Amino acid sequence: MSEPAWDELEAGTMVRGALWLKQVVGEGNTFTKQQIAEAFPGVAQADRRIRDLRDHGWVIHTNTSDARLSAEAQRLVKIGAPVWDREARRASQREKPLSAKVRGETMERDGYMCRTCGITGGESYPDDPVNTAVLSVFRKEVVLPDGSRKTGPMAECKRCRSGSAKSARRLDKLQERIGALDEAAKRQLAQWMARDERDWSDLELLWSAYRALPPEYRDQLRAEVEKPD
Ligand SMILES: [Zn+2]
Repeated sequence: MSEPAWDELEAGTMVRGALWLKQVVGEGNTFTKQQIAEAFPGVAQADRRIRDLRDHGWVIHTNTSDARLSAEAQRLVKIGAPVWDREARRASQREKPLSAKVRGETMERDGYMCRTCGITGGESYPDDPVNTAVLSVFRKEVVLPDGSRKTGPMAECKRCRSGSAKSARRLDKLQERIGALDEAAKRQLAQWMARDERDWSDLELLWSAYRALPPEYRDQLRAEVEKPD
């Protein structure tokens, strides 16, 4: 996206403020609340919206961070992400840490269970019995059927987290795939949904136990299973 002119773009105050800082003030220079008020007449708290740019990598100093500045002046120390570009704005949004309250509520809502693989905290992994799950609360992104994205906290185990840190949940794709299931599979899924827990088939449990064996015993078992009856 090419850079729009600050006084022509239809956008929120933070975005127009970013363009104003870049195009009118310039990196390294100072500006005052008075200048903001003149550039954005009638906009309530325009200076606060402009300070929100700090969440996008912009460095703006006031006299508390730079004693050479007067009480009225701020300095644009560094231009950050090009927030007028929607993708860049989204990618640069600095995540604020989740509060203990949100983490506690999320854990409770999610039944102290990893929402990715279904394991509960302290339980050992069916496919990796020597390791037990450690749960945390992370922000997860969901892509909705209309293509919009929503982010919310979710309980997840560290193992799933390391595998899926940045990938979004695709509600749109999920609906497609569920729609394509046969009736038996759909019934099975509905049961798991109702219990909020899945069954492990005997075959899957055997597989996990097999995978947890030292290699020489895996080889031995494999040879036995492969042997024709
Ligand atoms: Zn998990």
